[in-house]
Amino acid sequence: MALTKCADCGREVSPRASACPQCGGPLPGATPHTTTERTARELKALLLKRRLAMAAGLIMAPCAFLFLDSPAVWATLFALGLALALFGAVGAMRAKALMWWRHG
Ligand SMILES: [Zn+2]
Repeated sequence: MALTKCADCGREVSPRASACPQCGGPLPGATPHTTTERTARELKALLLKRRLAMAAGLIMAPCAFLFLDSPAVWATLFALGLALALFGAVGAMRAKALMWWRHG
């Protein structure tokens, strides 16, 4: 693999590196690509986690009605499920918006 020269310190570095290992200077071409991929993966993980939270909440809230004979339990379960579903839904929307904002 051909090496590229760092513009800042002149050291030969791999073209796959996003930054020079010696001086930390950004390498042309590599940085935007790597950053985009990493951000997209982070956002996908975030989206997945929020969707899981939403699903868990949507399952938990109806389950509360199994405990109708003890109001303290079902109220807590229902509130928790609702909060989790809401938190997940908002988080998923935010992740989607961030994806659109950063990557079109
Ligand atoms: Zn350098």
